[in-house]
Amino acid sequence: MENELLVAEKAVREAMGLCRVVQAGIVPSVLEKADRSPVTIADFGSQALVCRSLAESFPDDPVVGEEDAAKLRQPEQAEFLDRVIRVLASQGVTAGGDTVCDWIDRGDGVPCDRFWTLDPIDGTKGFLRGGQYAVALALIVAGRVEVAVLGCPGLGVVDGDGLVFSAIRGAGTRVSPASEPDDSRPVSVSDCTDVTRARLCESVESGHSAHDRSSVIAESLGLQSESVRMDSQAKYATVADGGAEMYLRLPVDASYQEKIWDHAAGSLVVTESGGTVSDTFGAPLDFSQGRTLQKNAGVVVSNGLLHEQIVAAVVSSETVRDHDDGH
Ligand code: AMP
Ligand code: MG
Repeated sequence: MENELLVAEKAVREAMGLCRVVQAGIVPSVLEKADRSPVTIADFGSQALVCRSLAESFPDDPVVGEEDAAKLRQPEQAEFLDRVIRVLASQGVTAGGDTVCDWIDRGDGVPCDRFWTLDPIDGTKGFLRGGQYAVALALIVAGRVEVAVLGCPGLGVVDGDGLVFSAIRGAGTRVSPASEPDDSRPVSVSDCTDVTRARLCESVESGHSAHDRSSVIAESLGLQSESVRMDSQAKYATVADGGAEMYLRLPVDASYQEKIWDHAAGSLVVTESGGTVSDTFGAPLDFSQGRTLQKNAGVVVSNGLLHEQIVAAVVSSETVRDHDDGH
């Protein structure tokens, strides 16, 4: 899988460069107007770059991505498409509209025995806020994540332009600065065994994870610190790299099915760093079910050592809630 990892890493680094260029151009007036065009342009541009690289190196592998170009191909979207073409050109990739749309549509693949899954920009709200977001790419073979690359432009940015986490099943996780692929180090989870000292991260968006339930769990575990809220799979990266001991994703809407591209890369990055990933009942995430994790409910991520204790608290918070609801 070394070649798969090399190609995936290079593609993700290119996509991160494109996203940073677009993000740097977001002006406060855009934020106020809640204008989503920058994120849409970066989304399409990122997916085009990654799919182009995968098509070149692995022409037989389908890509299951979040975007498709159907809308972008409509004549009234010509100006928008032009902006995508221009941002690609700024990254040294020159192509016409049809080619760009074809690259994007390579991401419209169907899950099969071996396929890639891509979130070109995970955490779009974080991208717009100037906070955390991620470019997440993973290879799934026979229903298991085998290779993962998670680009986090907003992590470790004191002197740089973000971090790239990469993992091959069985070979561990490594991290390197976005602009220095050769400067990598192994990643490992926190060795904390005292749950009261565990640091919890969760979504910024209360529509993506139940904040009220997580505070009940935090209290029952006796957590001493406030939860850290951040967008995107940067939460998985933070647990993998020992910056937090747990990440909870607690279903708000029981009918919502988690998308594979929101969890595939992050989950391998964590497990290969020594952590554990399950759903809210302690079951492993099942990536063999198509585009969603329909056999799972929510996600619990930990440094492994605390996993049983955390899942027990999560399970009993469900019972308390059901009881409160009068069921
Ligand atoms: P986060 O940044 O962790 O809040 O997650 C962002 C992801 O949440 C997006 O990529 C969406 O696919 C996903 N999402 C959208 N709606 C929901 C929902 N109701 N519950 C959980 N996740 C959602
Ligand atoms: Mg996403």
